[in-house]
Amino acid sequence: MNTINIPNEYAVQLSPPDISPYKKGNTGIDYIWTFDSGFPGPHACVTAVVHGNELCGAITLDWLMSSNFRPVAGKVSFGFMNTEAYHNFDAKNPNASRWVDEDFNRLWAETVLESERDSAELSRARAVRPFIETVDYLLDLHSMQHPAPPLMLSGNHERARALAAKVGVPTDVIADSGHAAGKRMRDYAAFDDPNSEKTALLIECGQHWEAKTVPLSKLATARFLTSVGVADTSLLEGLGKPSAQSFYRVTDAITIETDDFTFVKPFIGGEVLPKKGTLIGTDGGRPIFTPYDNCLLMMPTKRRWKGQTAVRLARREK
Ligand SMILES: [Zn+2]
Repeated sequence: MNTINIPNEYAVQLSPPDISPYKKGNTGIDYIWTFDSGFPGPHACVTAVVHGNELCGAITLDWLMSSNFRPVAGKVSFGFMNTEAYHNFDAKNPNASRWVDEDFNRLWAETVLESERDSAELSRARAVRPFIETVDYLLDLHSMQHPAPPLMLSGNHERARALAAKVGVPTDVIADSGHAAGKRMRDYAAFDDPNSEKTALLIECGQHWEAKTVPLSKLATARFLTSVGVADTSLLEGLGKPSAQSFYRVTDAITIETDDFTFVKPFIGGEVLPKKGTLIGTDGGRPIFTPYDNCLLMMPTKRRWKGQTAVRLARREK
């Protein structure tokens, strides 16, 4: 299903930078750049536009590329992922460029990547896959449908949670295992292997077209690169400071089962519902209740069709 042409109620405060100068890459893959310090160290990578309508990541990579950022240790890569979708961005219909054929961030199971199926996004995922396999630390820059509090999604492994704490922004860090509709790039292969040290983070910087997503995206990226030891602290100058963080764990992903899913209220995400058993929505008439007190609603979707994640529920941890 490709119904991404949903109405937009939010102002578009950002414009997409021209990324065509970055097309040639220097890795043999379009839009993928790697800079090697010549010194030992990990391979850190920052990715943007996994979703074509999310602008803060493109702005952040454009900032680093145009300012000639170079690592002080190891290697640093920058990748613009779903560039075909990104090039379709239209401020008058800004949701329509999220993808071309399907969600790039649901294709990262080996069985899907190696299937007979094809699409614009599968073809790009297959092209960048060998490169992604060389990355030790990944920060994937995203934004959200609603102006909800920013989130760092750390996946299920402690090593990623520890890296999220080192990065120090944003305030809310959520441990989660993704979506029934398919695997995300941040969970691909070694990133989700309990025995690997490869570590991935995904940050949701705020509403897609809000101006304030950009300073957060830049700060998180700079702190990520310094945290893994590939950039020196001069990169942090003038970008702001981290504050105290709260850690949550996703307990439930509510997957839509019928053609008639509705929320009881227009939730935007980040709401904490104090009482267990609070009705949040219905799916084909079946009521959906919060399973515990102080339940955080994470990224309720407007794309309410069968098989999609309607909302995820998270419980606060110490
Ligand atoms: Zn996204």
